[in-house]
Amino acid sequence: MSDLRYAAAPARTTEIPRPRRGEGQWALGYTEPLNKNEQSKKDDDPLNVRDRILYTYSKRGFDSIDPADLRGRLRWMGLYTQRKPGIDGGRTGSLPEEELDDRFFMMRVRSDGQLLSSAAVRALGEIGRDHARDTADVTDRENIQYHWIRIEDVPTIWQKLEDAGLSTLEACGDSPRPFLGSPVAGVAADEIIDGTSALDEIKRRYLGDPAFSNLPRKFKTALTGHPSHDVSPETNDVAFVGSLHPEHGPGFDVWVGGGLSTNPMLAQKLGVWVPLDKVADVWSGVAGIFRDYGYRRLRSRARLKFLVADWGVEKFREVLENEYLGEKLVSLESPESPVGHRDHVGVHDQQDGRKYVGVAPVVGRVSGSLLLALADVIDEFDLDGARLTPYQKIVLLGADPARVEALVERLDEIGLSARPSVFRRSSMACTGIEFCKLAIVDTKNRTRDLIAELERRFPDLTTEQMGGGFSINVNGCPNACARTQVASIGLKGQLVMHEGRQVEGFQVHLGGATGLQANFGRKLRGHKVTSEGLDDYVAAVVSNFLADRSAEETFT
Ligand code: SF4
Repeated sequence: MSDLRYAAAPARTTEIPRPRRGEGQWALGYTEPLNKNEQSKKDDDPLNVRDRILYTYSKRGFDSIDPADLRGRLRWMGLYTQRKPGIDGGRTGSLPEEELDDRFFMMRVRSDGQLLSSAAVRALGEIGRDHARDTADVTDRENIQYHWIRIEDVPTIWQKLEDAGLSTLEACGDSPRPFLGSPVAGVAADEIIDGTSALDEIKRRYLGDPAFSNLPRKFKTALTGHPSHDVSPETNDVAFVGSLHPEHGPGFDVWVGGGLSTNPMLAQKLGVWVPLDKVADVWSGVAGIFRDYGYRRLRSRARLKFLVADWGVEKFREVLENEYLGEKLVSLESPESPVGHRDHVGVHDQQDGRKYVGVAPVVGRVSGSLLLALADVIDEFDLDGARLTPYQKIVLLGADPARVEALVERLDEIGLSARPSVFRRSSMACTGIEFCKLAIVDTKNRTRDLIAELERRFPDLTTEQMGGGFSINVNGCPNACARTQVASIGLKGQLVMHEGRQVEGFQVHLGGATGLQANFGRKLRGHKVTSEGLDDYVAAVVSNFLADRSAEETFT
């Protein structure tokens, strides 16, 4: 590892015995790489791949890319190879990665909760149209994700993004992944505190900082000052959640150690209150603990959640205060989490008397053309801009109340509904077999068809009839990119047996939630459904719930 990074680890003051079988924790002296990912990061800081893309790979083409960069370090620049079209999901377990690699890339552009002006939305649309075969998805980490990117086009795309104030830096990799910010920060009438400056400060200080470019694995951050907790704080490595301290006023509660995938864990509250101007320091402390004490031996245990689970929050707080901050934090009895929707879909009041409008693309799928149309709408209605949400939705800010109905109609015309059906509103789907090399089943298209069928069968159903925060999240494999385990109906892609043969299907998780009723959905034995049988299965679950529902009962 570089001297710079290891020098960043502060002196230890808390007694932590060095275990006999090391987990690869730097702070306990395990500085030799224990697996090939750690070796690759030690061989070369992944941030250095930027220059190789700009000056070598983009000029000499795909075949010039060093394999260690292709399947490793390019991720730090937001690039993954996409899945070669036409490869059957069931076979992927036995195929080496190079057989799955297409010669095209998936590219993630991070938005970090920032307001996207019409110029930025137009730039994003033009990139989709000109370089990505008109693809563009809104992801549940507030990214725009493209497909079909050629390495030769990356410098042009980066220049265009930079001009729009955007980047792909550390959008993937073992790094500070895209930050989730409240889509209504600084505008919502019911906001507790505007965290925009804190998120900007974290980004300014630490994004692309070599001190944090070699973390044990991904590190997910969320920050919101909105009372709905609209950034899924339960499922992030670190989350700052707007809270009122009885003496000190508005600030942030700190949650650590959330993460889904295999061994899902909900974030735990540290019981501290942090003022706005201290958030970046605390972020650096938590990320530093992860870097120095995080487990690096096994990739499957290299997330902060395992350390938090082993230490407990009291010890975590003690190490944070003593070794990383050098001061005690103010204690806070964390308030209860809210219930209900966090997606901001519909028309809502701003602090300044104007309105914001949340719209629901179908499972986050937009396109370059749609983004170009959206940029025109932002100009036509003189809006402040757009923000992306962690629920694969888009929020438009700064609408004139006198023109808001016309705006809603106009958005509907371009395919962005502010009054979607309960099913369109409540659904998310990950990338799936179309482009993801880990996928076993199709997700986006299958979920789009599911929504259409449910809308046909339950045309007038409302969110309230479904008990409030109802959700259907669809994943293409056991990873949890679309947060399967905290959905009302979580669908995890896998092969299932049907009439003596393996076909695409899903393991069903029922009754998951975030917020006040935060809970993992139950994996019911036998609740596996074929992709073909999915419409009937979900329709039956919905019908049964409606038939038996008592007043005030939520789906969870
Ligand atoms: Fe790919 Fe699996 Fe994540 Fe879906 S959940 S995007 S299939 S890794």
